[in-house]
Amino acid sequence: MNWFACELHCHTVHSDGQFTPALLREKARELSLDGIALTDHNTLSGFDTIAKDGQSPCVLRGIEWTTFYGHMLVMDCGEFVDWREVRPDNIDEKTREITSKGGVAGAAHPFALGSPMCTGCYWDFNVRRWDDISFMEVWSGPSPWSQPSRGRTFALWNDLLDRGCHIAGTFGRDWHSDPAAGEAFACTWLGSERAFLTGDGMAGALKNGRVCVSAGPLLTVRAVSREGDAWPGDVIPAGEADFFFAADPDRRKELLHPRDLRPETFRLVGTGGRTVSEAPFSALPARIRIEAAPGWYRGELWGTLGNETCLLAFTSPLYAVDNDWKEV
Ligand SMILES: [Zn+2]
Ligand SMILES: [Zn+2]
Repeated sequence: MNWFACELHCHTVHSDGQFTPALLREKARELSLDGIALTDHNTLSGFDTIAKDGQSPCVLRGIEWTTFYGHMLVMDCGEFVDWREVRPDNIDEKTREITSKGGVAGAAHPFALGSPMCTGCYWDFNVRRWDDISFMEVWSGPSPWSQPSRGRTFALWNDLLDRGCHIAGTFGRDWHSDPAAGEAFACTWLGSERAFLTGDGMAGALKNGRVCVSAGPLLTVRAVSREGDAWPGDVIPAGEADFFFAADPDRRKELLHPRDLRPETFRLVGTGGRTVSEAPFSALPARIRIEAAPGWYRGELWGTLGNETCLLAFTSPLYAVDNDWKEV
């Protein structure tokens, strides 16, 4: 599995961002990002102006549905789906239409108040069926590891996972302009079997849950069960499984890390948001062996940032299911 550094939430002059799409891509290149998603408010027009030159970073065609009831990121949708008709009570039909047209939908900043305070940033959609929502921005904006809304966002994510939904967790910078002094951001890493990232590869990783988010080091978790290797987003059989945690503290260190980040503990978190087991952080992969009960499992990396003890990185879940697991 190859892991690519991406920013999945970007605005340009085609909505309320300050950069042209070309300049945004240049800024992303300076950060050594492998991929960016253009997600202007209610328009796809920026994508048409981006050079399709095969150079890094690749660009995923996206749009941020910006409504009074919440914001939703829609990526790689083959045909136009009319965001103007979306209401809290027809969101399920809309997300169904998006996935049936090949798109990937994700909830943007579900508990953001907006800056300045705005209506619509908060997620008010009455989703009854989450099957067509592939990801949720559980970290958003500057210093997401210490934002007050992070607890509620993780509680919502955990609750949906407990109910059996398969939802990846992402970070969205909600990139509009150059950072203010002192602002630091996280990065979403997308996994692909291929050596090079493409827009299709980004959308596929989001759909399949091959996602890790980090304030700094790339954190990966590989599970080895009786059925072989598995990665975030995969289904594994319940029973004995080894989870191998690896963190690469040096990858893109100068560009993406806050300077005072210190990893300390790998944590395997499962159903109910409970800690299943822990291991001290090490440069070599750490193994956590468990008897996996049916449910979900994700990797977390904890440590300090400045004086604060906090979550530094997390993977999207793997899902353990009982005996006839292949049918699921
Ligand atoms: Zn938004
Ligand atoms: Zn936005």
